[in-house]
Amino acid sequence: MSDATLSESSQQRGRGRRPAPLWQAGEVVEVIVETPETSSLRIQLPQPEPFLPGQYYNIRIPIDGRPRPIQRAYSVGSSPHPYFDVIEVGVKEMEGGLVSPVLVRQRPVGSILEVRGPYGAFTWTDEDGGPVLLIGAGSGVVPLMAMIRYQVSRGTTVPMHLLFSSKSSEYVIYRDELAVLTTEHTWLHVTHTFTREASNSMARYHRRIDKEMVGEVFAETAPRLAYLCGPPEMVDDCERSLLELGMESEKIKTEKYD
Ligand SMILES: Cc1cc2nc3c(=O)[nH]c(=O)nc-3n(C[C@H](O)[C@H](O)[C@H](O)COP(=O)(O)OP(=O)(O)OC[C@H]3O[C@@H](n4cnc5c(N)ncnc54)[C@H](O)[C@@H]3O)c2cc1C
Repeated sequence: MSDATLSESSQQRGRGRRPAPLWQAGEVVEVIVETPETSSLRIQLPQPEPFLPGQYYNIRIPIDGRPRPIQRAYSVGSSPHPYFDVIEVGVKEMEGGLVSPVLVRQRPVGSILEVRGPYGAFTWTDEDGGPVLLIGAGSGVVPLMAMIRYQVSRGTTVPMHLLFSSKSSEYVIYRDELAVLTTEHTWLHVTHTFTREASNSMARYHRRIDKEMVGEVFAETAPRLAYLCGPPEMVDDCERSLLELGMESEKIKTEKYD
């Protein structure tokens, strides 16, 4: 199924003409182990809906001792172009969490998952333009990757700079794919920072994202748009830094994983 009707469809939803999404039984058709704590699940949808890069789906699963299934939000990491009948979600296992450990460890190929979506206004397409500064920490890279993959798939060349914070090289989600994409596409720049690995040349920085770091990538990118995704505190700090650097608030989009 193609995304030919994607813009029209999202406009219709914006005007409230589309019905609310319904729960559907998706089948896990592939599991990709990204890092020791994160897996991507590729889910075949029986009733696919056009979606925009950056949007998310809700997933609910039964939990022992709970009267009703427990639901969580997961961003789609795959591009809706050229096909959107299989969505890929990237799930990081949260220690002690109810849903994410089950999705990462106990939903092999062939499992059925209840999913509902798409949702969210944290979206980018080439029509939005750029240059675009993408800032993500941990699994916050997932919707940003959908934007990158969308541009790759469509063949557009809007400049994008991803500032990506991970614990260490072993914990970089999409590590190999990002490395290949940066060699193949001059519009894509990736800057890694590692918070728990002091000396690895893959990373330009070895600390948490801070104001100085944001200032440096901001100066290099001259962004017209910024997309920030990850833990709420990191997103708030980065937004404050960008505002202090003179970026207008309506040019900054945020998605907080709380
Ligand atoms: C729009 C959106 C998109 C998202 N996209 C993604 C994504 O792409 N990938 C991703 O990995 N995540 C994503 N998230 C986060 C995701 O929805 C879940 O919040 C996350 O997976 C944790 O859910 P969980 O059920 O495993 O943990 P929860 O059960 O919600 O617990 C979260 C943490 O709180 C702790 N905790 C729970 N109860 C208590 C308590 N009583 N006292 C102390 N600590 C407690 C747990 O130990 C755990 O560490 C997104 C969130 C949003 C809002």
